[in-house]
This record gives sequence, C-alpha cells and structure tokens, in this order.
Amino acid sequence: MGTEIRRENQCEGEKKKEIMRMELESLSENEEFARVAVAMFMSRMDPTMEEIDDVKTAVSEAVTNGVIHGYQGKAGIIYIEVAIEGRELTVTVRDRGVGIQDVKKAMEPMYTTDVTGERSGMGFSFMEAFMDQVEVLSTPGEGTWVTMKKQIGR
Ligand code: ATP
Ligand code: MG
Repeated sequence: MGTEIRRENQCEGEKKKEIMRMELESLSENEEFARVAVAMFMSRMDPTMEEIDDVKTAVSEAVTNGVIHGYQGKAGIIYIEVAIEGRELTVTVRDRGVGIQDVKKAMEPMYTTDVTGERSGMGFSFMEAFMDQVEVLSTPGEGTWVTMKKQIGR
C-alpha cells in the first residue's frame, strides 16, 4: 500500500506549525485509515470527543469524494496534509482526478452527479457544518483541493 507518513516541524517566526502529510492510494478502505490518522495527529491539541468526531466526518467525506468522484474508482493518489498552528487545525485533501466544472453548484446541499441513488449530495454540506471554514478549488481535468479549518478547544 502506498502510504507515507511524514512529520515535520516548521517555525515561522514565533508560531510553531506542525505538519503531517499522507499519500494514500485511491481505495475506499483508505478512507477509514485517513480519518483515524488525522484524529490521532490532532490528539495533541487536546480536542473534545465531539471535535474529533467532527473532523473525522469531514475528512471522511472529502476522501470519499476524491475516491468516488475524483478518480471515479480508478487508480490514483489522495494527498492529505494536516497542519496544527496554535489552536487552529487545517486539513487539506487533494486529488488529481477529473475535477469539478461548477464548484458553487457542487457545494449546494443535495446536489449530486450520482445516478445510482446511493449518494445524497450532502458531503460538502457536512464538511461545512462540522468545520469552521471550507474552501474548494478545482480545475476540470486536473483535480480538486479541499481545505478545511477548525479552531480546537475554544
Ligand atoms: P454524498 O457525499 O452525500 O454521498 P455526493 O458525494 O454526491 O453525495 P457531495 O460530497 O456534496 O455529494 O459532492 C457533490 C458533487 O460534487 C458530487 O456529486 C460530485 O459531482 C462533485 N464532487 C465532489 N468532490 C469531487 C471531487 N473530488 N472530484 C470531482 N467531483 C467532485
Ligand atoms: Mg460526497
């Protein structure tokens, strides 16, 4: 399995930033691995169970989207970066898949391109509900970046 975990510390002035990066094969079983790994990394922020669950849900939705929509079940790599800076957690989930034509529309509640009836089109809405900030950048044919931020332990 193409899993790589790196930890590094970056110092920008006085602020300490800790970063973890993972590259996971685009497989649905890696969605569970991704959310557990992110939960473990953020545990140093002394989060509540609710905060951990919120982040796990958001990570899970973003990774699932990369696997299902981005790579459409084909081989590919999901790139995950988690950064801790003080009380702020930033999670970026990126794929080099098909991309999204209309990001604004894709983010609307209940919007889905799924035709099997399995998807409800609520993934982005969950990410927005459980994180403080969600930003989606996408280029058709190149892939999608989802950056999510959350203050932990207010
Ligand atoms: P659900 O998440 O409820 O199972 P869904 O995945 O269709 O359903 P969202 O996660 O909100 O709902 O995504 C909405 C739509 O945005 C998707 O149907 C898909 O068309 C598009 N999309 C989302 N993520 C990606 C991605 N990484 N690459 C390409 N398209 C995406
Ligand atoms: Mg989804």
